[in-house]
Amino acid sequence: MQELILYNTLTHKKEKFRPRKGKKVGYYACGPTVYQYAHIGNLRTYIFEDLLKRTLEFFGYNVTHIMNITDVGHLTSDEDTGEDKVEKEAERQKKSAQEIARFYEDEFKKDLKKLNILFPDTFPRATEHIQEQIDLIQKLEEKGFTYKIPDGIYFATKKFKAYGALWKTRPQKFQKSGRIQTKEKRNEQDFALWKFSPKDSKRQMEWSSPWGMGFPGWHIECSAMSMKYLGETFDIHAGGIDHIPVHHTNEIAQSEAATGKQFAHYWMHGNFLQADGKRMGKSEGNLLTIEELQKKGFSPLDYRYFVLGTHYRSPLLFSFEALEAARSARARINQHIQKLHQLPKKNDNRGFRNAFGHTLADDIDTPGALAVFWKHFETLSLADFIWADTILGLRLKSIKKPNPPREIKKLLREREEYRKKTDWQKADAIRKEIEQKKWLIDDTPRGPILFSGAGLP
Ligand code: AMP
Ligand code: ZN
Repeated sequence: MQELILYNTLTHKKEKFRPRKGKKVGYYACGPTVYQYAHIGNLRTYIFEDLLKRTLEFFGYNVTHIMNITDVGHLTSDEDTGEDKVEKEAERQKKSAQEIARFYEDEFKKDLKKLNILFPDTFPRATEHIQEQIDLIQKLEEKGFTYKIPDGIYFATKKFKAYGALWKTRPQKFQKSGRIQTKEKRNEQDFALWKFSPKDSKRQMEWSSPWGMGFPGWHIECSAMSMKYLGETFDIHAGGIDHIPVHHTNEIAQSEAATGKQFAHYWMHGNFLQADGKRMGKSEGNLLTIEELQKKGFSPLDYRYFVLGTHYRSPLLFSFEALEAARSARARINQHIQKLHQLPKKNDNRGFRNAFGHTLADDIDTPGALAVFWKHFETLSLADFIWADTILGLRLKSIKKPNPPREIKKLLREREEYRKKTDWQKADAIRKEIEQKKWLIDDTPRGPILFSGAGLP
């Protein structure tokens, strides 16, 4: 079996993947903050995380996959100031914070299904793990890593010697040394573990704690929940590249300070989807959702195919032309599989399978694997397609033997009659008529084959 190589942000290089316990892999991916619809940039990251999981399973690993749902504590500013994103949206829509959170969580899960992203084993919610977060903060307090200021309990990053291990260079946001965002914060990169409820207004989501009424800071939920479900040390932690400088850096600091053990062995990050030369994001004003793509006539799986075509560590430029190309590629695959259902069974292509696996093993090289796929396309058996689809996730198994209506079959017979009589003009006219009804003909040595040219699911 091919050895799997993964790029580890922690060591800044590609490494042979070696899980801690045989074939078992503990895998945590940071999930969404549920206060708005996911955009296709967010979803690129979740497709990457899905491809990582599928690749691990492809290479025989038994994966436990956890993805959190952030339904409290993520503030509008990364500096631990500003409003709670979920509460702010609840106010805007005149709904409760819980209604908002559950609604967008459901919508998020619908998007995952549309994109054929395999569900994690568990989706733990931050609001349902408050005690675990308090326990972890208490542990940090006992070890002397925390201090209190008027708006909350903070982590003293200076006390954690290895702070910033994920950074290749000091992130820009921490380069203006000396500038401290919150007045009482000791160091600019110190971050909130527990925030106190404001004195002048009432929060919807707040809990009592040893330090007073309040709510957890954003980073602590991921440490508390990953350790609860995967143990103090686990194999892989993933997210988007924007998590490297702050969120993941802080997760490592607070987890390792609390346990004295290494937190995650492999850190993996997906690069951004860009549109109009910028990252796709709310503040950039260039968001697109899956629903918007569907309204324009695309299938969510067209988007999935489009994402497969670029390596997860490279930026991906969105364009509708590229999405159209993805749609055409899927149509070609679909039609080809319909044909294979009607032709004698082919032998499986060992050469293809080896090359595909070999390419994928190199840090989940999906563009490379797609190139191998297209190179061998005409020679693949139906089973080869289904096999490759355990990675591609294009629902190729659901493409069945076509069942043309009687009217179409009758037209095809008429066309055959004309062909026998070498009346090409009439035969061609019937072909056109059949095509107008969204059925296509392929004249194989074994006779004509019909397949549906109608839109893909
Ligand atoms: P959020 O819900 O804001 O916490 O973001 C959810 C996920 O989407 C995070 O893992 C981000 O890294 C990721 N993300 C945000 N914007 C983009 C983008 N333009 N391209 C790819 N991933 C993104
Ligand atoms: Zn996280």
